[in-house]
Amino acid sequence: MEFITNSPEETEKIGAAIGKIIPAGTVLAYRGDLGAGKTAFTRGLARGLGIEDAVTSPTYTIVNEYPGKIPLFHFDMYRLSSSEDLFDIGWEDYLAVEWSERVDDVLEDALKVVIHRDPECDDGRRITIEGGEAYADLSL
Ligand code: ADP
Ligand code: MG
Repeated sequence: MEFITNSPEETEKIGAAIGKIIPAGTVLAYRGDLGAGKTAFTRGLARGLGIEDAVTSPTYTIVNEYPGKIPLFHFDMYRLSSSEDLFDIGWEDYLAVEWSERVDDVLEDALKVVIHRDPECDDGRRITIEGGEAYADLSL
């Protein structure tokens, strides 16, 4: 699935739509440079999951936990290379992982969320979701 967005709000909206339909235990593995919109997407994802807390970047904390009906763990692997911490969580919890390429070996079954900037437009993003064919009827 591929989406084009032209503002952070639009990216959040895609995240929220995904959050509404993913099953418990889904792992999202993000690819995308600094400022691509991984955290913005996760902000929407949390909203879609029914989480009301404000989502902030896990860059300095490594992981942020958001309690909800099912909790969401939001990781940033930028300065880590070990995958051990990722799995200290419950099997049905949601997991959103920024800089997931650092822990690719253990994220084979993840939904891959790839975010590219549009080189011609500052606020343009192309979001590709790989492994989400089951969500083809996603209504946005
Ligand atoms: P990352 O987590 O990938 O480093 P952030 O989500 O923290 O990125 O930041 C994305 C930045 O890009 C924010 O400053 C946001 O306002 C800006 N932005 C501009 N257009 C978009 C868009 N279409 N989608 C997401 N973010 C956008
Ligand atoms: Mg981020």
